[in-house]
Amino acid sequence: MKVPFLDLKPQHQALRTEILAALAATYDATRFCLGKDVDDFEKSFSTLLGYPRTLGMNSGTSPLHAASVCGGFGPGDEIITTPFTFASSCWGISYVGATPVFVDIEPDTWCISPAAIARAITPRTKGIVVVHIFGQPARMDEIMALARQHKLFVVEDCAQAVGAQYRGQPVGLIGDCGTFSFYPTKNLGACGEGGAFVSRHAAVMDHAQLLRVHGSPKRYTHTEVGFNFRMDGFQGAVLNAKLPHLAAWTARRRTIAGKYLAGIRRPDVQLPVISADGESVWHQFTLLHPSRDALRVHLDKAGVGTEIIYPGPMHRQPCYASLGYQPGSLPVAESASARCVSLPLFPELTDAQVDHVIQSINSF
Ligand SMILES: *Cc1c(COP(=O)(O)O)cnc(C)c1O
Repeated sequence: MKVPFLDLKPQHQALRTEILAALAATYDATRFCLGKDVDDFEKSFSTLLGYPRTLGMNSGTSPLHAASVCGGFGPGDEIITTPFTFASSCWGISYVGATPVFVDIEPDTWCISPAAIARAITPRTKGIVVVHIFGQPARMDEIMALARQHKLFVVEDCAQAVGAQYRGQPVGLIGDCGTFSFYPTKNLGACGEGGAFVSRHAAVMDHAQLLRVHGSPKRYTHTEVGFNFRMDGFQGAVLNAKLPHLAAWTARRRTIAGKYLAGIRRPDVQLPVISADGESVWHQFTLLHPSRDALRVHLDKAGVGTEIIYPGPMHRQPCYASLGYQPGSLPVAESASARCVSLPLFPELTDAQVDHVIQSINSF
């Protein structure tokens, strides 16, 4: 039996008629940049997930850049963040000339450690970029207590956590702003690039809205140096067509993750831990194994696709060599990177495929 790590085709074949009809309507109306489709998506996304407002953007990286500008980050500022994430989480910090300060993660949830944040705070610390990695919310209560005490601006990178909640609050509303990616492989994927920005502060939303379109409150008036972070009309139309299915897709992801958690029985496997306060949306199902590479070869022979997410923690990436982090400086993140392997997890997997993955791991 073949179990691909990810297959986007079944979802896009199932929605082919409605998505292509939506695209045709957008095409005929020539609503190519922002416009009604994006407005409709922003409204539906806000209503469905509990945000006061949403700003559609052209990737998940752009709202992270906007977040750094909204937080007033700049040269000389230290922004504390996690090394165990996709690179883009750190780009917003670097784009504005601030310095990422990487701290270690929790050994069970793999999210940033509040205790490690507390140890890294200096008079130059200006903010924190939290990542809800693999769809599981980080420990926001402790993080926000530190942020209040030290007056820090908190960015939540929710790229993997659309629909996730922390103590009944949607992610992205707990910190000062939240960012989403609709890259095709995410839980809610566009047919191309897309992202979004949310905040519980109206003033931050207004600022991000200004930044999205060239810092321009009025045509040809530019009150600050802005960007082109506009979402395409086509992507708004696709996301509108997909949004009504998100709840069912998330439920299916949770069912599959539950099957993995119950079915994988090996003392040498460390399964992901679900924290009591956070409701994961299971963007990835990642486990740790001391012979990760041999396990991957075994699974590949059994027809099971896997990925290593992420093989190199950000503090050891060549682009950040000048920051001087030595091997062993963030041991929990480095050990997770050396042992992690992610299993197939997307809503269209069949129960038989899920059972085959479980059996293949148990027979290793
Ligand atoms: C995908 C992702 C991003 C970046 O999103 P793009 O849409 O590719 O720009 C940022 N952070 C995390 C954690 C991601 O997984």
